[in-house]
Amino acid sequence: MSRPRVAVVGAGMAGARFAQQFLAHAPGAEVTLYGAEPRGPYNRTLLVDVLTGRYDPDTVALPCGPGARVRTGCEVAAVDTAARTLRLAGGGSAGYDRLVLATGADPVLPPLRGLRAADGTLKPGVHPLRTLDDCHLLAEDASVAHRAVVIGGGVLGVSAARALAALGLPTDIVHRAPFLIERHLDEGAAAALRHGLLSLGVGVHPGRQVRALHGADRVTGAELADGPVLDTDLVVLACGARPRTGLARAAGLKAAEGIVVDDQLAASEPDVFAIGDCAEHRGTVHGLAGPAWDQADVLAARLSGAAPDATYTGSRPLARLTAGPLQYAAFGEVHEAPGTDVLRLVDATRGSYKKLVLLGDRLVGGILLGDLAAVGDLTRAFLGDHAALPADPLDLFTTTEGAAG
Ligand SMILES: Cc1cc2nc3c(=O)[nH]c(=O)nc-3n(C[C@H](O)[C@H](O)[C@H](O)COP(=O)(O)OP(=O)(O)OC[C@H]3O[C@@H](n4cnc5c(N)ncnc54)[C@H](O)[C@@H]3O)c2cc1C
Repeated sequence: MSRPRVAVVGAGMAGARFAQQFLAHAPGAEVTLYGAEPRGPYNRTLLVDVLTGRYDPDTVALPCGPGARVRTGCEVAAVDTAARTLRLAGGGSAGYDRLVLATGADPVLPPLRGLRAADGTLKPGVHPLRTLDDCHLLAEDASVAHRAVVIGGGVLGVSAARALAALGLPTDIVHRAPFLIERHLDEGAAAALRHGLLSLGVGVHPGRQVRALHGADRVTGAELADGPVLDTDLVVLACGARPRTGLARAAGLKAAEGIVVDDQLAASEPDVFAIGDCAEHRGTVHGLAGPAWDQADVLAARLSGAAPDATYTGSRPLARLTAGPLQYAAFGEVHEAPGTDVLRLVDATRGSYKKLVLLGDRLVGGILLGDLAAVGDLTRAFLGDHAALPADPLDLFTTTEGAAG
């Protein structure tokens, strides 16, 4: 095969990165991205900054590499892996030699009474936040709303709540788990975060659940499972995301939570691969931009021939939220375990919380919240560069802003 046709289904963060890297290794190759959204790829992690007006939608666009063909508003309706063809929702079909599925994830819509209007669509005033279109609709609605409730206190929920507060809306987060962002933070860091949110006008209700939404023509309140109703005319759903696997399943590809891939990022049929939020590797769906890009880089190196033996063996868990004074970085194992030493520094006045988890002389996890000056050194130490860990790890806590990597 002299010049294989590479098709990428999904023009999101993983698809764009793959195309860009692939074309960097193999200039002039034939790469086509099929994207269901009406615009080309953009940095989804910056949507909240688009919501606050900090970034213009055009400035969050992502490059796909010179010569990549991007077909926007072009949903792929079916894949025939035997014939190696794609059927397009708008009519027509297209062939491929190698297929990369990068279909991302859909927001989870919680099973709440009153979530939908009579016609089955979400009740006016109720919004998911996954795409730029969602962002525009939410911004429009936020400009006429008086109060907001965000359902879900993970990374997305916290960022969305902060953005709504910045737009002048008193906001409440209702979160089922006992503390905020429990996937990345510990209880101490979550308490500091909650304190910071309160000072911005965001109330936090951990360990609580919304069971119903009130209102006929538009949402008027969120009813909690233990009775009280929070008055609101705007609700943001931030209850997680589910890998988009329908296309792959219908094509007979093996899927569990995500499309199952091996260390070559290969799915269960020849010359079909999956990366990003839709992929499940070694039982894990990451749902984060970093791993999506790691996978895209490995696959681009393999398929372009630049590193045909490259494999993906997993990503080190590293999460970062840059939300003004509430920024945090969390990586690795943030909870104490037998044999680990924990260093903690809490500065209630400055609203900062720092924690390192050490196993012998190895840094196995940590949290920085509020003050990220040490994030460069810590990341390097965590990713295996032992030289970056000073003899006294506490010194890392005193790194000054200027020294941050
Ligand atoms: C508001 C928000 C904030 C976030 N913040 C962070 C953060 O701070 N840090 C972090 O690591 N991660 C963050 N994430 C998660 C991150 O955005 C995702 O991990 C990343 O976008 C995954 O890239 P992807 O290409 O797999 O999926 P996506 O970027 O979702 O792209 C998938 C694309 O495929 C398209 N598609 C699906 N099916 C088809 C089809 N059949 N035909 C054509 N096109 C199709 C979709 O329309 C979509 O455009 C955030 C997500 C959101 C929504």
